[in-house]
Amino acid sequence: MHVRQLLDTKAKNFIETVSEMQTLSDVVRRLAELKIGAVVVTDGDGGVTGIISERDIVRQLAAKGPSCLSSAVRDTMTKNVISAVPNDVAEDLLGKMTAGRFRHMPVIDDGTLIGILSIGDVVKAKMDSITAENEALEGMIRGF
Ligand code: AMP
Repeated sequence: MHVRQLLDTKAKNFIETVSEMQTLSDVVRRLAELKIGAVVVTDGDGGVTGIISERDIVRQLAAKGPSCLSSAVRDTMTKNVISAVPNDVAEDLLGKMTAGRFRHMPVIDDGTLIGILSIGDVVKAKMDSITAENEALEGMIRGF
């Protein structure tokens, strides 16, 4: 399965982003409201400049305490974002995320952010496809 198909199966793609100037408090609120684990950071033109996840915020809290919540996203975000393109094979993302030890992958098409996939999205798609394959094989064995 390609990344484009995987994005199409997700509930219609509202892409949550924040700006570098927003605070960690803003991010915490959005992560909690949307029940997600990371948001992409964009500049005024919609270009991706970073990503910030719950792990980044937990690390800051451990290092600096609650006062870090009023600091700007740009001081905590990961700047070197690894992203996917729609034609990537979804299963390949699992290897990249596992090797890089991160669980979120923005999808960028021709410079435009078109979605974000979590490792859970990719694992679910893989399990669905294994289930479908098993059912097809069972059907063949039973002569349906
Ligand atoms: P996560 O597992 O997604 O919560 O992220 C773990 C760490 O990897 C955090 O420091 C994130 O900022 C960073 N991270 C998450 N996604 C990516 C990505 N696609 N590219 C680079 N770093 C990432």
